[in-house]
Amino acid sequence: MSAESKKAHNFIQSLIEDAVAKGEHTGKVVTRFPPEPNGYLHIGHAKSICLNFGIAETFGGECTLRFDDTNPEKESQEYIDSIKQDVHWLGCEWSGEVRYASDYFDAIYDFAVELIEKGKAYVCALTADQMAEYRGTLKEPGQNSPYRDRPVEENLQLFRDMRAGKYQNGELVLRAKIDMASPNINLRDPILYRIRYADHHQTGDKWCIYPMYDFTHPISDAMEGITHSLCTLEFEDHRPLYDWVLENISAPCQPRQIEFARLNLNYTITSKRKLKRLVDEGFVDSWNDPRMPTISGMRRRGYTPESIRTFCDMIGVNKAGGTVDMGMLEHAIREDLNTRAPRAMCVMRPLKVTLTNYPEDKTETLVLPLHPQNPDMGEREVTWSQTLFIDREDFAEEPPRKWKRLAPDQAVRLRGGYVMTCREVIRNDNGEIVELKCEFDQNTLGVNPEGYKPNGVIHWVSAADSVEVDINQYDRLFVEESPDSDKDTDFVESINPESLVVLKGARAEKNLASPGTDLPYQFEREGYFFCDQELTAAAGRPVFNRTVTLRDSWGKGK
Ligand code: ATP
Ligand code: MG
Repeated sequence: MSAESKKAHNFIQSLIEDAVAKGEHTGKVVTRFPPEPNGYLHIGHAKSICLNFGIAETFGGECTLRFDDTNPEKESQEYIDSIKQDVHWLGCEWSGEVRYASDYFDAIYDFAVELIEKGKAYVCALTADQMAEYRGTLKEPGQNSPYRDRPVEENLQLFRDMRAGKYQNGELVLRAKIDMASPNINLRDPILYRIRYADHHQTGDKWCIYPMYDFTHPISDAMEGITHSLCTLEFEDHRPLYDWVLENISAPCQPRQIEFARLNLNYTITSKRKLKRLVDEGFVDSWNDPRMPTISGMRRRGYTPESIRTFCDMIGVNKAGGTVDMGMLEHAIREDLNTRAPRAMCVMRPLKVTLTNYPEDKTETLVLPLHPQNPDMGEREVTWSQTLFIDREDFAEEPPRKWKRLAPDQAVRLRGGYVMTCREVIRNDNGEIVELKCEFDQNTLGVNPEGYKPNGVIHWVSAADSVEVDINQYDRLFVEESPDSDKDTDFVESINPESLVVLKGARAEKNLASPGTDLPYQFEREGYFFCDQELTAAAGRPVFNRTVTLRDSWGKGK
């Protein structure tokens, strides 16, 4: 992670500082980011990534990237590759090789055997339904399984037979022997291993039994020498089990689990299962559809790693849950691009303008800054000619009060060019306005006209050399603030029908014929737009994705 990122002090950092000051923590701080490769990373994961890599960086420690891969049926290499790419793109360097929980399957098996030998785990033949009955409820204690007191030898043999493939899916499980009366249901003899005949993307067909997350995670942490295992609040009730596992095996070290609140963002969803549904059922084009809150979707839309990290700093890390306003994320990208994005002009809905007093065969080259506040970024050239395009929405035949754009017999300045006055409106047979005849004032390049005042400044391009481009106008994916909060309504019902509006035939200044691909452009007066390389190659002309509008106009009409 780059040095310039300012990280606010969070409670986990304070906690570690205290432990260091009191001598309770000595040595390196080691954290991990442990995604399950069952989907693409989303903005919620970015919070966890910034936290884990940030804590390691703050204390001069290390952070590993570990795939938590204990559910082979739902996982894939595609997800692994995308996750590595996204973590890297966010600017985080994991320490050493990428790790996999499956790297530790042999060790985890041996620790299970250790528990059986110590009389702390047993093989149980209750069906799933029976097990649920025996588990009890929040108000009532559970009952011991009739298999709980099997002799150690018998347990060892059955567990070996499970591994050897002598039993079918669901026939037997290995359970920890803890306490069926515990007020914490996670401690009522939780399952440690289940039978699953499934090929694994890393281990192939080596295993037909797979360890459960709650058993795998503490062991993987300990194997990697993790000191602080940071996870989201839903694991708070699992912490006693995390600690029980490590206390009851000969663990190489005793990591500490600390929980923090998940990031929830309004107008979107951050559940991989639901995001997968959007992809599988075609509500979006792919995991990296620019409307998706995935890291890869945001990257394609034009978000920068810096803006995502700034956003994560802004929201901080705490114990209390809550929902963050999408406006904050949009603010972070706007601020970043405002200082860095090169400027350009692009007319979304072109309306032809003919300058009646400008020679047909003449053109002029005008020089504009690439960034008005940052001369170091350099300049760009645009062409002035007799035929220009302005945006349809910048002309009103009957302008409302305080109209700051073009209207009959009124003057506007064309950004970086001359002042012109509209003299005539040309319509086609359907009565639609197809052209404006205007008079330009040759004494107004860079200076105010004498004796009258233009109405405002609008953007434009020249017909002579502007290029045709397509625009994907993206907006928020959902119209409801909390799309998945109402249990009786399917969240897909609140998808914003205008989350993508495609504009064909927009015209951009000639410099966008082969657009830069590092950063979005600011299309003046419109917003920030990022060239979509995939779509551009397919269309044979530049295609731009709208990253964000210039101002927060959500819900205010436009
Ligand atoms: P999902 O519900 O989307 O499947 P998950 O928690 O199952 O999320 P994992 O791949 O297991 O996804 O997550 C990897 C890490 O990222 C975990 O430590 C998890 O706690 C963290 N994480 C996931 N979602 C969020 C979120 N919304 N906010 C903060 N951290 C998150
Ligand atoms: Mg998970």
